Amino acid sequence: MQLPQPVLSLIYRLRSAGFPTYAVGGCVRDALLGLEPHDWDLCTSASPDQMRAVFTGERIAETGLRHGTLTVLIDHVPYEITTFRTDGEYTDHRRPDSVTFVADVREDLARRDFTVNAMAYAPDTGLVDCFGGREDLSARLIRCVGDSEYRFREDALRILRALRFAAVYDFEIEENTARALRALKDTLTLVAAERIRTELLKLLCGPAAGRILRGFPEVFAVLIPALAPMIGYDQNNHHHSYDLWEHTVRALEGVPPEPDLRLAMLLHDTGKPRACVTDRRGESHFPGHQAISAEIAEEVTAALRCDAASAEHVCKLVRYHDFPIRKADGTPNLDRAFLLRQLHRFGEQDLRALFIIHAADRTATGYSPPEREAARLAERMAALDAVLADQPCFTLRDLAVNGNDLLALGLRGKAVGETLEALLEKVMDGALPNEREALLDSLSGDASSLNISQI
Ligand code: ATP
Ligand code: MG
Repeated sequence: MQLPQPVLSLIYRLRSAGFPTYAVGGCVRDALLGLEPHDWDLCTSASPDQMRAVFTGERIAETGLRHGTLTVLIDHVPYEITTFRTDGEYTDHRRPDSVTFVADVREDLARRDFTVNAMAYAPDTGLVDCFGGREDLSARLIRCVGDSEYRFREDALRILRALRFAAVYDFEIEENTARALRALKDTLTLVAAERIRTELLKLLCGPAAGRILRGFPEVFAVLIPALAPMIGYDQNNHHHSYDLWEHTVRALEGVPPEPDLRLAMLLHDTGKPRACVTDRRGESHFPGHQAISAEIAEEVTAALRCDAASAEHVCKLVRYHDFPIRKADGTPNLDRAFLLRQLHRFGEQDLRALFIIHAADRTATGYSPPEREAARLAERMAALDAVLADQPCFTLRDLAVNGNDLLALGLRGKAVGETLEALLEKVMDGALPNEREALLDSLSGDASSLNISQI
């Protein structure tokens, strides 16, 4: 295993001072998988005070000191070094009541969640693997260290972490581990929202997210109760060949692995069960489900304590996930004026995201061939590229006149904003050029239609 130079030097310095020290956890797992670890965590027999003595003169952060973690900064990169420890009793399904420092790395490995996360490595000792982690890595298995049920009872977040690692690495979950996590799923409600959110978003962005969502729907329904009615829900509509959960999973698989997009797809049809009406032929329809889903998305993002910007973004994508993008005759609307108005409404990035969402949603019905939807998406994106190529005006900021110009003409109050909007619409529709003189001229020529009557 190849360790980066700074990691080797940290291990070497602690070892020279007499303290066994290893790379441990996620970085060992990733390195054995041939992946680039995103950070290198170390563990050592040195106490925090002893570490501090060894690293005098280095830049040190003491944030995790109570749990035995010291962070050393080398070339601005943080390395976490933690004293070997065992966890005391867990009485609240979340955190150990106490931690105890221990002398042996094997005791530290035993407190870790899964066998693939419970390996340590140092150049002179090689791999320390007491729980069959390397074998499970080759078999692509997530398995608890020790008794699964006991370990999930200690810390319920591990239930979601098991699903997360399986989704991210495309691993199976070992049978006993799977059985225990299903049995204890309800304890997930005891876990802090921030910890849930972090794991859930990583999970949703994993390459095998779809398989895990299909395999463990009842666990996700504990995390987000609004998902419960979707499981096995018959859409009873000739545009849909899958039940609502399968449709949702397929739609999620069809968008890029970005947290906001994946969460929006998970929630985009949550409003359907509440919106359902049945027509005379007995077929179901879901008028207004977009707004109900958006309301649910607001509640879910608040419960998960998403930051304000992502919450707003997710809700917007949910609310407009199927805003009309075709003409009345069913053909794609690629008109310049239409696209400019949508750019004004959503901004370029969100408009592109909504086009992607639209294609994924349609493909996930099972009735529209993926190739056809992919071709239509490409056509929409190309049309958007063409419209954007000559840097058109679709925001008030880019309009050749501004509020001051209208104030100078004598407009006041609401009329200023409304007139600017009206001018922008004319420019986007191609009825007026985006030139100051032409825009101001149009106002004097066409006063009544542009609210100048209010002067
Ligand atoms: P990632 O690649 O997401 O960072 P990771 O395995 O490094 O994955 P972390 O959350 O950074 O995950 O945790 C580091 C290590 O600490 C894990 O590999 C595992 O050994 C241990 N660990 C983390 N969370 C828990 C937990 N809830 N219970 C037991 N051990 C845990
Ligand atoms: Mg990590």
